[in-house]
Amino acid sequence: MSIIRHSVRLQHIGGHLRTLNSLSDVNRSLCSASGTDSSKYDLIVIGGGSGGLACSKEAAKYGKKVAVLDFVSPSPQAPTLPVADVRVKKWSPPDNLVYYVDRRVVDHLLRGGSVWGLGGTCVNVGCIPKKLMHQAALLGESLKDAKHFGWNVPDNINFSWEVLVTAVQNHVRSLNWGHRVQLHDKKVEYVNAKGSFLDSHTIKAVLKNGTETTMKADHFVIAVGGRPKFPKEVPGAIEYAISSDDIFSLKKSPGKTLVIGASYVALECAGFLTGLGYDTSIMMRSIPLRGFDQQMAQLATDYMEGHGTRFLKQCIPVRIDKADDGLLHVTWKESVTGETCQEPFETVLFAIGRDPETLQMNLEKAGVELDQQTRKIKANDEEQTSVAHIFAIGDVVQDRPELTPVAIRAGKLLADRLFGGSDVAVDYDKVATTVFTPLEFGTVGMSEEKAIECHGEDNIEVYHAFYKPLEFTVPERKVEQCYMKVVCLREGDQQVLGLHFLGPSAGEVIQGFSAAMRCGLSYQSLSSTVGIHPTCAEEVVKMHITKRSGDDPTVTGC
Ligand code: FAD
Ligand code: NDP
Repeated sequence: MSIIRHSVRLQHIGGHLRTLNSLSDVNRSLCSASGTDSSKYDLIVIGGGSGGLACSKEAAKYGKKVAVLDFVSPSPQAPTLPVADVRVKKWSPPDNLVYYVDRRVVDHLLRGGSVWGLGGTCVNVGCIPKKLMHQAALLGESLKDAKHFGWNVPDNINFSWEVLVTAVQNHVRSLNWGHRVQLHDKKVEYVNAKGSFLDSHTIKAVLKNGTETTMKADHFVIAVGGRPKFPKEVPGAIEYAISSDDIFSLKKSPGKTLVIGASYVALECAGFLTGLGYDTSIMMRSIPLRGFDQQMAQLATDYMEGHGTRFLKQCIPVRIDKADDGLLHVTWKESVTGETCQEPFETVLFAIGRDPETLQMNLEKAGVELDQQTRKIKANDEEQTSVAHIFAIGDVVQDRPELTPVAIRAGKLLADRLFGGSDVAVDYDKVATTVFTPLEFGTVGMSEEKAIECHGEDNIEVYHAFYKPLEFTVPERKVEQCYMKVVCLREGDQQVLGLHFLGPSAGEVIQGFSAAMRCGLSYQSLSSTVGIHPTCAEEVVKMHITKRSGDDPTVTGC
């Protein structure tokens, strides 16, 4: 009964969450006192990705009984066995099967889907393997630069996809293991099972071998993230194409690749594939990086185009057919001319957005409401769903930035509020992010378009600069797209509304400025900051040319 005494005597019970929490503490203590329901958890987290792991570990810190369920359903496609290998192996289905199974299904079965370990999207098929492959591509560029700096680099340097994938996957596995150890150390029960609701206090957990068990808890956190979409209206897409769930563990090099989509995932994947030397095309139906500052997005894609990525603009895929030689013949339509085109590729990767993993969770049995259009979970500012003791965090929630640090913060702060008496919630405003395109694009706050929409063109001032990174000078790299801008209010000390940076190590640069923005950064304080020389970031504090002036914003001299 110590928990009750603590809650009542030492804490003011205010706010909905705290009251709810205290009531369930009372409830659980009474139950355990009478010995009726000791198997019940304080918290069950469904989904062991960025958000779920952070939340469960933080909750366990408060001495709570916590379980986290994580289960990865195989991706619909993954060419783990390249067509040629299948032929060599002369795999033949049993006679009684071959007449009943469609060839496409046999292909599908032969390939199997990608699966992975604990840690969710970021660790296995997102940020981590992506950044490592991005780094591999950047190293290729650096090798070319190295010659100019005196290194005797041979002309015929080879790149091995197999070595890269093995190294990346080894690191991913070490992280999977690390997460398991952490859960164990923090006494969080890890259940490798798929969770779905039976009622608002009970879930069914289905293990890999099909065994089912039921689990009860006072609180639930849904942190199941999302999975890549495939267009059902494009014949051959599900059967033959892959997604970001497959690319990082692809056994054979992707070869000539078509990436369909034009946002984060598409541009990043196409960027590193081009950098690794693959003939790579992007099929874009509208604009790149919708929602981002469009001048910056345009410059980022211009740089890619100038460095070997082909852009098929205003095009939509129509169908994908597989030829006998294993090549994927993609038919597409050009929206403007109406012309239909076809071309063979070795790999087709769809990066057209992600669907939340809410479909198989029986959320209606628990009473959790979804957004009808996106199927994402509706949650309030305290991550609470339409059911008081069920919460949702991360990518699965409507109107949240789909980013790892956001999910982690939401999970940690939620556990602190539920069990630690905190009332701090996530501030989803001014979240910085970086698109790891070959020339990285870091950004925080409002785009120029958004600032104009919110404040009117006359009320904002945009300072900008085209600059030349010192490290690009000796190898004579093209620098036309190295650009930055700061979008400010025009009046007073000119509060900074948005900061956008295109150039090397953009993520590292923008992180510090995002902290300054949270402290109310103004142009005045930015421009009174002494720079660090010689860096690219110093150009941010040196920007002085306004767009309005029409003056040349190119930085010259040292
Ligand atoms: P997830 O990490 O997706 O975790 C959800 C987990 O729940 C998964 O393991 C899933 O298998 C499991 N699950 C689903 N349903 C069930 C169920 N019914 N029962 C049990 N378990 C279930 N973000 C960044 O900040 N920086 C980046 O550089 C970056 N790069 C990315 C690159 C790519 C290619 C992609 C796809 C994403 C990237 N992201 C990046 C986004 C980031 O990965 C996500 O925002 C983050 O992983 C979301 O965390 P989450 O906890 O909401 O979900
Ligand atoms: P997005 O939802 O951001 O973008 C989808 C893209 O696909 C858009 O360009 C869209 O075009 C296009 N598209 C949608 N449907 C079709 C279709 N049927 N045919 C052709 N094109 C289509 O998805 P992403 O998968 O790129 O990213 C998901 C999230 O993951 C991001 O929002 C981001 O938060 C996170 N992420 C973060 C990263 C980072 O931090 N560096 C890296 C990667 C992902 P249109 O604009 O015309 O709709």
